[in-house]
Amino acid sequence: MKLTGNLFIGANDVAATEGTMKALNPTTHQLIEPDFALGGVADVDRAAILADEAFDLYSHTSLARRATFLESIADNLDAVRQELAARAALETGLPEAQLEGEVTRAATQFRQFAEVVRRGRFLQLAIDPAQPDRLPRPRMDHRLQKMAIGPVAIFGASNFPISYSVAGGDTASALAAGSTVILKAHNAHPGASEIQARAIRKAVQENELPEGVFSMVRGSGNAIGEALVDHPLVKAVTFTGSEQGGMALYRRAQQRPDPIPVFTEMTSVNPTFILPDALAARGAQIGDGFVERMLVNVGQACLKPAILIAIEGDGFEALRAAMVKRVSEASARTMLTPGIHASYISGLAGMENAGAHRVAEGSASGADFEGQSALLEVDGRHFLSDTALAQEVFGPSALLVKVKDEDEMFAVARSLRGQLSAAMHLEEGDMPLAQRLLPVLERRTGRIVVNAFAHPQEVTFATVHGGPFPATSDSRFTSVGMTSIERFLRPVAYQGFPDALLPEALREINALGLPRSVEGR
Ligand code: NAP
Repeated sequence: MKLTGNLFIGANDVAATEGTMKALNPTTHQLIEPDFALGGVADVDRAAILADEAFDLYSHTSLARRATFLESIADNLDAVRQELAARAALETGLPEAQLEGEVTRAATQFRQFAEVVRRGRFLQLAIDPAQPDRLPRPRMDHRLQKMAIGPVAIFGASNFPISYSVAGGDTASALAAGSTVILKAHNAHPGASEIQARAIRKAVQENELPEGVFSMVRGSGNAIGEALVDHPLVKAVTFTGSEQGGMALYRRAQQRPDPIPVFTEMTSVNPTFILPDALAARGAQIGDGFVERMLVNVGQACLKPAILIAIEGDGFEALRAAMVKRVSEASARTMLTPGIHASYISGLAGMENAGAHRVAEGSASGADFEGQSALLEVDGRHFLSDTALAQEVFGPSALLVKVKDEDEMFAVARSLRGQLSAAMHLEEGDMPLAQRLLPVLERRTGRIVVNAFAHPQEVTFATVHGGPFPATSDSRFTSVGMTSIERFLRPVAYQGFPDALLPEALREINALGLPRSVEGR
C-alpha cells in the first residue's frame, strides 16, 4: 500500500494545511518517506461536523449491522498484517514479530466487541411496567436503554502503535457503543496510523455507513489536541500518555461551557510485594521473572512492574542477586522516540537525586536513543521520605525497596498513589499477611495479581485496566476489556411511550431476543 501521508476527514484524503512532517526511524535516526500532512483547527472542525452528522444514523444502526462493521475492520486489519507490522517496526524500533501480535490483538478486540454488540447486554435494557391501579397514584410505564454518548475524540498512544493506537481498544469500544470517532494520530508512528485508518475507512465504505463514522487528524504541537477537546460537537475524550498531557486535556475539558468526560490513562508503577515465605522459598525466581517483565517493550508499558517491595531477611540476597544478574545481562534497546528516551534519562537521574542507588545496569547504549536498563535500590525509610521515588520512570528500569518489617511494608503500600495494578507473591504461610494487605491494595489499584505479574494483558469481560488517580482520571471505568464500552454510554429513559414509538429493543414483544430486566429481575 502506498502511503499518501494525508489526513482522513471522513471519506476525503486531505492534504497538509499546517505543513508536513516525516516519521523518524529511532534505530537508524533516519527520516522516513513520505511527507505526512499536519492539520489544524479547520480540519478538526470538519471532522467533528461529519462525526456529528453521522452520529444519529450510526448510533441507531441495528446491532447486527454494527457487529458486521466491526468484523469488517478486523478482516481489513488481518489483510494488512505484515505491511502494518513492518511499518510500525520501522517507526518504533519494536520487533516486527511483537507488532504482528499487536495486529492480532487489535483484530481480536474488534471481533470480541462485535460479539458484545450482538448479545446486546451492554444496552442494560430495563422495563418497569405501568401500575395503573397503584395507590396513592398510578405509576407510568418506565423503560431504559443505554445509548452512545456522541462523537468521541481518541488520542492514540505512542507505546503500543497498533493495539492502543488508531485501531486500538478505545476505537473498538467507542464504535461498538455506537459513537462516531475522531482519532488524533500520535506523531511517533504516522505511517502505521495511516495503514490502520485505511482499514477502518474501508470498512465504513464496505458497510455503506456515513463517512463521518471515522476520521483521523494529525498536527504539530498542542493546537490540534486542544481543538478536539474544545470542539462543542465532541462529547467525550480518551487519552493514553503522560500525566502532564492527560491532566492538561482533562482540565481543559472541564473548563468548556459544557464539560465533557475525559478518560485518561496516565501513570502507574505497578508495585509488586513479595511476602516473607515466598521470598524465602523462591526469591531468586521471582526477581528473575520481575526483571523479565520489566524489560518488555523496553520498559515502555503501562503495566511495567517498576517497584518491588520485599522485607530484608531470608531470600532477600538471592532476590537481589537474581535481579542484578538479569539487569546486567540486558542489552540497551532502542526507545520509541527521542523525547521518551530523554525523559527516561532524566527520570533515572531524578531517582538518584532522591537517594536511590544504582545497583546494576545493562550493557551501555551504542546509539543515541537506546535505553540502558537499570536497577536501583532504596530502603523503606528513605522511600517513605521522598515521593519522587514513587514516580514512574518510563523505560527499562526498576526500584527495589528493602523494608525492615511488615509494618514498613504496609506503610509503603499505604503511601502509594493510584495504580493500574499491584501484585503479591505469596505462599500458604503468607495468607494472613496477604489478607491484611489486600484492602490497602484494593483502595489503590484497579487489578491485583497473585503469584504473577500483570503483563501481558488479557482482553476479557473481567479485565480491568484502570484505577484511582493518577493511574486514570476516572477510577469507575476500565480502558481495556469488554466493559470499556461503558465509557461511551449513557442511560436514556422512556416514560409512558406508545409501543410503536419505543426503540425496538424495548418494545413489548422482545423480537430481538435481547436480555432485559423487568422490575429489576
Ligand atoms: P504525551 O506527551 O502525553 O502525548 C500523548 C498525546 O497527547 C500526543 O498525541 C500529544 O500530542 C497529545 N498531548 C499531550 N499533551 C497535550 C496538550 N497539553 N495539549 C494537547 N495535546 C497534548 O505522551 P507520549 O508522547 O506518549 O510520551 C511522553 C511520556 O508519556 C512518556 O515519557 C511516558 O512518561 C508517558 N507515557 C505513559 C504511558 C502509560 O501507559 N503510562 C504510555 C505512553 C506514554 P503531541 O505528540 O503533538 O504533543
